[in-house]
Amino acid sequence: MIDDGLKQRIFDEVDKGFDDQIAFTQDLVRYPSQRGQEHTAQDFLYKAFAERDLAMDRWSIDVGEIEDHPGFSPVTVNYDNAVNVVGTHRPKQEKGRSLILNGHVDVVPVGPLDMWTTPPYEPRIDGDWLYGRGSGDMKAGIAANLFALDAMRRAGVEPASSVYMQSVTEEECTGNGALSCLVRGYHADAVLITEPTHDCLVRANVGVLWFQVELRGRPAHVYESSIGSSAILAAYNVIEALGKLEAEMNAEKADHRFFEKAEKPITINIGKIAGGDWASSVPAWCRFDVRAGIYPGTSVEEAKQRLEGAIRAASRDDPFLSNHPPTITYNGFAAEGYTLPPGTDAEKCLAEAHGEVFRAELNDATMPAYLDARVAMLYDDTPALVYGPVSEHIHGFDERVSLSSTRAVTKTVALFMAEWCGVEAI
Ligand SMILES: [Zn+2]
Repeated sequence: MIDDGLKQRIFDEVDKGFDDQIAFTQDLVRYPSQRGQEHTAQDFLYKAFAERDLAMDRWSIDVGEIEDHPGFSPVTVNYDNAVNVVGTHRPKQEKGRSLILNGHVDVVPVGPLDMWTTPPYEPRIDGDWLYGRGSGDMKAGIAANLFALDAMRRAGVEPASSVYMQSVTEEECTGNGALSCLVRGYHADAVLITEPTHDCLVRANVGVLWFQVELRGRPAHVYESSIGSSAILAAYNVIEALGKLEAEMNAEKADHRFFEKAEKPITINIGKIAGGDWASSVPAWCRFDVRAGIYPGTSVEEAKQRLEGAIRAASRDDPFLSNHPPTITYNGFAAEGYTLPPGTDAEKCLAEAHGEVFRAELNDATMPAYLDARVAMLYDDTPALVYGPVSEHIHGFDERVSLSSTRAVTKTVALFMAEWCGVEAI
C-alpha cells in the first residue's frame, strides 16, 4: 500500500495537470480518426508517448499474422493505415505486477453534420462537458491513461513494473487492433481499458457479429409487376424475422448471468441498407448490413447458425427467395462476449482506488456492446477491467464527456497503477 502522503501528491498532480489534459484531449478529438484515417491521430499519440520516454512500437495490422487466431474477425478493407501504437514504461527493477493501459483511437462516422450543434471535430467545452466525436468514446480515456502516468511521475514516483500504454484501431468494427497487440506479444498481469462506463466496472458484455445479407429479386417493368419479384420487399420479411429473433433472444436473458436485469441485452441492428436501380422497375437486388449481439458463452459458430437459420426460414416463405436464398457475408466483428468473474485481485485493487477518489463503492455494469477487453479475457486468461468516465450520446450527435468525471477517473487510474504496479522513486 502506498502511503497517504504519496496518494495525496498523486491526486494533487492530476488536478494541476488537468488543464493540459483537457487541451490534449481536445487536440486528439480534432483528428477525424474514422476507419482508414486513424494514422494521423496515431502519429500524434506516438509523439506524445515518445516525449515521455516510453519505448515505442508502431505497426500496421498484418492480417496474415492474426487470421488464424480464434479471436480474428474477417475484414474487407485495406489495413495500411490501421496503425497500432504502444509505448512501454520499463522500471529500473521489475518488482510489481505489470499493466496494460488500453484505449482505442478509432471513432464512428458522424452522420449528417447539420444535426450537430457545433462541428464534431471542433471540440467545444460547455460547463462540465467536452463535446466532439470521440470525446467520450474514447479519447478522454486515452488521455486519462497517459496523464495518470504523468501525475505519478510529477509526484516523484514511477510504476515498479512494466506498463504498456496502448492506442489501438479497429475497435469499432472488428476488434482486430487489440488482437494484433496480443499476437505481437503484449501481455501483462492486468488490463485496464478506460471506455466511457459512467464510473462503473464492466462485469459482462455481449459478443458481436457483423454480416451483410444480399437478396436477389426478379426485375420487371412495373406495368407487369406480377411477373417480377421485389428484392426490397423480400428484405422486409427477412428483417422482420431478425426482429423476432432479437425478441426471442432477449426473452432468454434470465438464463444468462449478469444479464438478468439488463433492459435489452441483445440488439440486432440493421445499420445500412441499399437496393434497386430505378423507381419504375421491380428491384432485382437489396443489401443490408447487420450487427447482432450474442450472449457470453455463445460461440461465434453457434450464433451464426441461429442467425442464418432465421434468415433461411424467412426465405422459405417467399416464392422467389425459396429458390434463390439470400447470401450472407461476414464482414466485421466475429467476437464472443465475456464475463469478469467477481473477486479478482485486479478488481479489488481498482475498487479500492475508486473508493479513495469517489468515497463510494465501485458499481458494476453489464455492457450490451463490444469491448476489446474480450481479447485478454478470452485468449490470454488475464483480468481486463473496463472502467471510465461519464459520457453521453456516443455514436450519436453532440457526443460529450464529463470533465469532472474524467478528472476523478484519472485519479483512480493513477492510484490503481501505483497500487497494482508498486512504485519506485524516479
Ligand atoms: Zn469505445
